[in-house]
Amino acid sequence: MSLDGPYDDANIFAKIIRGEAPAVKVFEDADVLAFMDVFPQSPGHMLVISKTSKARNLLDAEPETLATLIAAAQKLARAQRAALKPDGIVMTQFNGAPAGQTVFHLHIHLIPRWDGVALGRHGAGGMADIGELTKQAEQIKAALA
Ligand code: AMP
Repeated sequence: MSLDGPYDDANIFAKIIRGEAPAVKVFEDADVLAFMDVFPQSPGHMLVISKTSKARNLLDAEPETLATLIAAAQKLARAQRAALKPDGIVMTQFNGAPAGQTVFHLHIHLIPRWDGVALGRHGAGGMADIGELTKQAEQIKAALA
């Protein structure tokens, strides 16, 4: 059911795009916004979203939206690596509530991993310290420059 349906303009990511809800931003241009996940599965967990598309998920996204989003995700993953020095980076993207999707605006997760450090559960962690998120965002931003 949640794979289909109308795009809800009141979803939290649409509010972040419009500036109606706060976010710790890492990168923004006309097409894409990247910001820190406030319930991170690991330190440095970032989200990359389209600013222009009303796609809810991969299945209803326009190919050109996907191309822009994945290119931005690559750029941001490289900066995340340079800044935070993880041993690996998980890229995830959920489609529909049974698959784990909780926000119905197309997005990509970039989750740094370190050897021997367990990954937090999706949607089950506590809210991060905003100061910590800001510090991580600044480090990643500096690596983008
Ligand atoms: P998904 O479950 O794949 O739809 O991912 C949604 C993600 O958005 C989750 O990892 C949440 O922790 C994250 N999230 C929810 N609300 C916010 C918010 N206001 N700012 C940043 N991240 C959020």
